[in-house]
Amino acid sequence: MQLSRRALLAATPLLAAPRLASAQAGTGRIVIIGGGFGGASAARFARDNFPGLDVTLIERSRRFTTCPYGNLVLAGRRDLASITFGYERLAARGVRVVHQSVTAVDAARKRVRLADNAEVPYDRLIMSPGIDLRWGAIEGYDEAASARMPHGWVPALQPITVLRQQLEAMPDGGVFLMTIPDNPFRCPPGPYERISMVADYLKRAKPRSKIIALDAKNGFSKQPLFQDAWEELYPGMVEWRGASNDGRVMRVNPGGMEVETEFGEKVKGAVINVIPPQMAAGIAREAGLANASGWCPVKPVTFESAQVPDIHVLGDATIAAPMPKSGFAASSHAKQAVACIAASLAGRPPPPASYFNTCYSHVGADYGISIVGVFRGTPERLVEVEGSGGISPRNATLAPARRAEHRRLEALYADGWYESITDEMFG
Ligand SMILES: Cc1cc2nc3c(=O)[nH]c(=O)nc-3n(C[C@H](O)[C@H](O)[C@H](O)COP(=O)(O)OP(=O)(O)OC[C@H]3O[C@@H](n4cnc5c(N)ncnc54)[C@H](O)[C@@H]3O)c2cc1C
Repeated sequence: MQLSRRALLAATPLLAAPRLASAQAGTGRIVIIGGGFGGASAARFARDNFPGLDVTLIERSRRFTTCPYGNLVLAGRRDLASITFGYERLAARGVRVVHQSVTAVDAARKRVRLADNAEVPYDRLIMSPGIDLRWGAIEGYDEAASARMPHGWVPALQPITVLRQQLEAMPDGGVFLMTIPDNPFRCPPGPYERISMVADYLKRAKPRSKIIALDAKNGFSKQPLFQDAWEELYPGMVEWRGASNDGRVMRVNPGGMEVETEFGEKVKGAVINVIPPQMAAGIAREAGLANASGWCPVKPVTFESAQVPDIHVLGDATIAAPMPKSGFAASSHAKQAVACIAASLAGRPPPPASYFNTCYSHVGADYGISIVGVFRGTPERLVEVEGSGGISPRNATLAPARRAEHRRLEALYADGWYESITDEMFG
């Protein structure tokens, strides 16, 4: 039952769209900043469903490499080209695609300024600019340090291949050291999928090696499932330490290839992957959309900024808990925001707000796990619909003869999800 619900959500994200009223939708100019999961989904959804909307997508890069499936590139089970996409088809569908950086937003005059100083006017602005890393939040961890100790967390800043090359050069018997931040951060299960996929590579290529993960938290998404799988697939290879076991890293020393924990322990690694604390991307903060937390508060029904009118913020940049910062969530925000904008331009009330998320994780070859949630927005809050969620069953609850098949199917559903969401963005 759980599996079929997940499979349905994964295979057909368009089903998870707000009810459309395109016939009565209004006309107007929508400008979208950021052509990632939130922005590309918004552009495609607006173009396909609301012919009265004039849609401009502004994205600084010509090619977009997804974070999802990056951990499989790290493990050598995918190549970078297979997770990299262009905007040609979106343009062919009638989206005006502009490859430039947005340097400023003038909310009073409803215009955005581009790097070449051109100005683009809008009736409604959508921002899905993703995240920035908080350089210096871990002492000594700045952009220069990230060359020695890669983050591999924002493909536009650093391709995952940088970390992959270090992993390939690591001697058998070396320690792959990873530091993981406190919540909130991009992709709550992502670091643990990364541990799994690094273990998958090491088991095949460097079986005497070890992974040490130092975590600023005491628990994490799908923890029992990940830990069951590590024991089953990679026995003795993974050591995870939470905050109360001195897992919080305070400073790094790239020259000495070591990190220092809260209680002063120095831990060395042959490869060190630092996933630093994060915040909403610069353009969102500079436009006055973020609060003191560094993230952007939004209205739960429309994803309009709670601070600046007529700007809708999507995806990782937002404060949208209990939804996780995931690509699926960003795409779900996008559809609702676009439907609300179309309704508002026509002088109609916003449609009811339902949001969806499935986070799949690859834990080994042909071994997938997932967590699903359905959420509802009311004017006051965003809540998970009671009883809507689901998580993969633990090993102990599965008949031993069916376990492998179950995990294999989830890995397959993950592939299906990835194909369909990237097709919705770039197809
Ligand atoms: C290792 C890893 C694995 C993950 N796996 C999954 C997964 O399996 N499933 C899942 O759902 N999610 C996953 N995620 C999370 C997912 O990648 C993010 O949640 C998603 O990318 C957020 O979408 P977004 O639109 O907010 O930002 P992004 O997708 O990062 O898009 C932001 C875009 O805005 C552009 N931009 C920013 N500022 C400007 C500017 N000033 N001018 C012009 N353009 C600008 C950027 O170039 C970028 O292309 C994973 C993340 C990581 C790190």
